[in-house]
Amino acid sequence: VIYLDYQSTTPCDERVVEAMLPYFVHNFANANSEHILGKYVAETIDKIRADIAEMLGVVSQEIIFTSGATEANNIALQGSVRYLIDHYPKTKRVITIATEHKSVLETVQNLQSIGADPFILPVQSDGLIDPDSLKAALQVPTILVSVMAANNETGVIQNIPYLSALSHEYGALFHCDLSQACGKVSEKIQLRSWGIDLASISGHKIYGPKGIGILYVKRKPRVRVEPLFYGGYQERGIRSGTLPVPLIVGLGKAFSLFQNEGNEEIRRLASYKRFLINELQARIPQVKINGSIEYALSNCVNLQFPEVKALDLLARIPHLCLSTGSACNHVSMPSYVLQSMGLSEQEVLSSIRLSFGRMTTKQEVVETVHDLYSAWYDVRKGT
Ligand code: PMP
Repeated sequence: VIYLDYQSTTPCDERVVEAMLPYFVHNFANANSEHILGKYVAETIDKIRADIAEMLGVVSQEIIFTSGATEANNIALQGSVRYLIDHYPKTKRVITIATEHKSVLETVQNLQSIGADPFILPVQSDGLIDPDSLKAALQVPTILVSVMAANNETGVIQNIPYLSALSHEYGALFHCDLSQACGKVSEKIQLRSWGIDLASISGHKIYGPKGIGILYVKRKPRVRVEPLFYGGYQERGIRSGTLPVPLIVGLGKAFSLFQNEGNEEIRRLASYKRFLINELQARIPQVKINGSIEYALSNCVNLQFPEVKALDLLARIPHLCLSTGSACNHVSMPSYVLQSMGLSEQEVLSSIRLSFGRMTTKQEVVETVHDLYSAWYDVRKGT
């Protein structure tokens, strides 16, 4: 079996698991407890929080641990909009883009129930936002703009510093879902200098454990978010609940691994991607890349295969773990991300997404090219 679906999730790095283990049985205390065991765990978490904050160019108090990016997106969007609707009831618009993950799109759409006015911005055929269309949307007083840094189906990378500056010019807050960009872009993610007010990150996309993520909430000037649920006032009251210490330790290790090894990994995966595209296009010249080629992650690609249905192709190569769209979307539904980039239904249904990661070997890439090509050849010939 060859795993080519690192955009949907990554395996835990073994070094992450090793770092986590002592925190299940030995250092198991509640980080809020006053006793020596609790204090030890609290100090460990403080150190991890500070290290992660430093890597992201922010300060410790701005980092909130959540159960993942879905929760971080929900708190960022619902929490900030609830506060602002209460305090500035005339400003209602919330803007996001058509290719966002469902945890942003559905949340924004549901903000209508608390009086907000959702506005879904279309994207261009390369998946990028046209800044003029954002400018036009911002002519109506806007609470918040939410744009993902990198797309989970196409890998297309938006110009976040530019879009956040534009949003601020019109007085709107800026939220960014960094789930797919974190650990995968060669440029260092710097939340403050990128002009981000609220951000979301997921542990299981960066070789950390599932069930942990980060919400960044800017402190100066202070961005207010109301909690989605109430409890013991952990995480500054923004996210109550006993801290999942082993998961936080794993997340911290995952961050330090990509901090040390990330650039080398990105270069290696970029060379695999170039190889795969060149080799496939040499065999099947009509293979098309969906989305911007220039502004895209170096570990993934979304490809359109001529004259075949992607599902027929995948049925021939069950040992290749890849997909036709996001795992978070219903499999039988054609990708709304590709549809909103203007692809026809037939083009959408002939597309697959493929992503490499830390454990991918060159040999696997060579086999993938070979197997994809023979499957395409057989399906097209109807053999
Ligand atoms: N946003 C994006 C862009 C994603 O790709 C994902 C995971 N598919 C999420 C949010 C949700 O992350 P989590 O699984 O941590 O809730």
